[in-house]
Amino acid sequence: MSALPLIFFGHGSPMNAIEHNVFTQGWRDAVQGIQAKAILMISAHWDTPNLQVSANSLPPTIHDFGGFPPKLHTSQYPAAGSPALAARIAERTGAQLDERWGLDHGTWSVLMHTHPNADIPVVQLSINSRMSPKWHYELGQQLKPLRNEGVLLLASGNLVHNLRLLDWSNGQPVAWAERFLSFCRQALLAGNDAALLDYRSQGQDAALAVPHPDHLLPLFCLLGARDKTDTAELFNDAITMGSLAMTSIKWSGAM
Ligand code: ZN
Repeated sequence: MSALPLIFFGHGSPMNAIEHNVFTQGWRDAVQGIQAKAILMISAHWDTPNLQVSANSLPPTIHDFGGFPPKLHTSQYPAAGSPALAARIAERTGAQLDERWGLDHGTWSVLMHTHPNADIPVVQLSINSRMSPKWHYELGQQLKPLRNEGVLLLASGNLVHNLRLLDWSNGQPVAWAERFLSFCRQALLAGNDAALLDYRSQGQDAALAVPHPDHLLPLFCLLGARDKTDTAELFNDAITMGSLAMTSIKWSGAM
């Protein structure tokens, strides 16, 4: 079996789960033709002090947000889990099996569009924001063999994410967000993992774009799982609300 693609989704607002817009259409298009036996999702919204993998056979839909319309709060994504895949990931990475976590909105807001029938088992792996980008990169290296076993490795976050500085009037992108996104874009397309791992060298732009690393760390797991010969392709490459980057990346192997 050839290696499945890797996809990092810029997830943005939880409302994307129940909206149909240019970004959710981009998510749908990105998975066209991919046949997966299981999905492993690394979401910005599961940040734990020890690495955890979800081992629940019927993972609940977690509504980890507040103040949205009832339709969003009652949405369900009824995919099965895969205790067997979770056990395999635990064995490879040393993650602890977790029976309580289900699917957080970083996961299901995207999967509602990419896999609307919820007919593929989904396992989540946590991030640990106490640990470095390099640590997440090395974690991704341990996950790489799964790509050849029909496991679709996905990550969900945002390259530029500063909730306090969002422009609720949805005005023009601000300069620091444009600059940091441009840095990410160039490094991603050039396959320059070292530059991305050292994103803090972007100084004040990085401090504003990534005030907390949770939404960027899932990216490093996929960078670690990528093959040097994979082709990187950006989609949904736009900033909303002044500074929220929806930019998403798909890496595909040679056909
Ligand atoms: Zn988020």
